[in-house]
Amino acid sequence: MIHIKKKSRSIYPIIVPTSYGNVGTINSYILNDGDSLSLIDAGINTNKYKDALTMTLSENGYQINDLSRILLTHHHEDHVGLVNWILQRNDIPVYAHHEAIPRLMVEQEFLVMRKKFFTELYISMGCIEEAQPRLEKLQQTIEHKNELALQTVIRPIGEGDRILGMKVLETPGHSADSISFYDEERQWLFAGDVVLKTTSSNAIVDPDIKGKRLHPVRQHEKSLKRLEQLEIEYLFAGHQEIIEDHQNVILQKLDKMQRKANRLYSVIKEGIHHPKEIAQDLYRHKYNTEFSLVMSEVIGYLDYLEEGGLLKKSLQNDVWHYKAL
Ligand SMILES: [Zn+2]
Repeated sequence: MIHIKKKSRSIYPIIVPTSYGNVGTINSYILNDGDSLSLIDAGINTNKYKDALTMTLSENGYQINDLSRILLTHHHEDHVGLVNWILQRNDIPVYAHHEAIPRLMVEQEFLVMRKKFFTELYISMGCIEEAQPRLEKLQQTIEHKNELALQTVIRPIGEGDRILGMKVLETPGHSADSISFYDEERQWLFAGDVVLKTTSSNAIVDPDIKGKRLHPVRQHEKSLKRLEQLEIEYLFAGHQEIIEDHQNVILQKLDKMQRKANRLYSVIKEGIHHPKEIAQDLYRHKYNTEFSLVMSEVIGYLDYLEEGGLLKKSLQNDVWHYKAL
């Protein structure tokens, strides 16, 4: 496996092929700063990933006990999978954005609010029937919260903080709690799923801690534009390969987002006004097989176009009806 070294710091990437989603590989990174080892993201909870982590450490003369901290780019299960397993062996601090805390600690109050949020959202988008499996899954999470919660106290980090000399940048969109770690001196960026080389990282609709609906497409666009401006030699992504031409990749992502927005706009202009029908028209069978991702995407772009002054919505029998302006 490749090692990246610069100015007395080294990165040992852990890049493990996966059949999870369509992401290709699940990545995490060990950062050796000369004094200590940090794990940036913690993979998925499988034996294969545990072996990959243990092996990468041992190839470099280390073991789990040598890790000093875990830094998380966001709370998704393919980034936090081995946190509890590591903590059982070596009780080290875990850092994440404050929006990650109720999600990772599986806080009852937050989960109940989140389920209510999605129930109301799906009613207003006219797809409450198809949403039943998703809502059932949210209920399951509430019931199994004790097994799912991280067994630690998470230390919150956010915009303006520095950790190991790296700047913490808030880069939401893919999730409310997405952060990136920027080593200006080495021009290294650990960006989680904000920028992926070959698949688009979906902007996912979610409430914030207070229950307010976030606008992930606009947030993601802003985060991408911000990262595009940075001097970066290596962008260490949460999936697929390490990116060396981040500006190119980001410009392509932004372009694709515009095309998606345009496509959705033309469907509405052609006379399809209900979110469910818009989703079915654009995504066909995926509307059923990948319901929550598809609806997330459609809702995200509806909000984006509405904010841009291109759409107007009105309630008809409790369901939003969108009109092109
Ligand atoms: Zn991911």
